[in-house]
Amino acid sequence: MANIDKNQTLEKLVYQLKWQLELGAEAMVSDIGYDRKKDFIKSEVINSFPILPIPPKPQAHLQHNVNNNHVEKLILSIKDLKELKGALENFEGSDLKKTATNLVFSDGSENSKIMFVGEAPGSEEDREGKPFVGLSGDLFNRMLKAINLDRSNVYIINVIPWRPPGNRNPTDEEIKLLLPFLIKHIELIKPSILVAIGGTAAKTLMKIKGGILRHRGVWSTLDAGLIKNIPIISTLHPTYLLKAPNQKKLAWEDLKMIRQKLNQLNVIN
Ligand code: URA
Repeated sequence: MANIDKNQTLEKLVYQLKWQLELGAEAMVSDIGYDRKKDFIKSEVINSFPILPIPPKPQAHLQHNVNNNHVEKLILSIKDLKELKGALENFEGSDLKKTATNLVFSDGSENSKIMFVGEAPGSEEDREGKPFVGLSGDLFNRMLKAINLDRSNVYIINVIPWRPPGNRNPTDEEIKLLLPFLIKHIELIKPSILVAIGGTAAKTLMKIKGGILRHRGVWSTLDAGLIKNIPIISTLHPTYLLKAPNQKKLAWEDLKMIRQKLNQLNVIN
């Protein structure tokens, strides 16, 4: 019995690792920093298990249950965060809601002058209903701490408030559909500074073309509804930094720029 359980656990683990490779994982690094990717690819065990299918992308027509005019009308009637949360809880236009366990609305202080925008919840965030609580959340907390911030003086949301199944990337259609909610969220918080965490948030909010590595660490501005010219900067996503720890020095440069801007604006000392 014990052997069967052990095999099943191993099988699940190998599935997960093979899947990560399929998705483009560049390294398999443990706490001690040794990259096991080459060993894993060479090992016999990898060849003895079939690969898990990657969850299919939703078909385009599934994403257009509600057109954006409807969403925009809905948004116009929203006056505060409670109404925004309620509108998302009652929104039936996104198939992501059907497969998610919880709405991941936000975390942190609604009065904060700095707002961080991530991509989408992962499995732990989906379970807890809070952004950045998994492994990448631990690193994110350490990034905040490095510039004297923490969850009590920042506000955190994601571009997409429901976990995409199988942790796949959200599609452009999903992002477009939910964008009015994101913009309204920013408008209601009225941050003095916005930080896009990772490529998806940067592409959504900063309209960049090309990769985050080219565009990170540069200030620009964003208009969110009635709130104009909000300074915005993008930085590397903690999930990426966990896979590529040698890029942390770039994130550190961005964090220093964020701290400098907070000091200049005299907010959150
Ligand atoms: N990655 C994100 O972009 N957001 C989360 O909330 C968790 C992981």
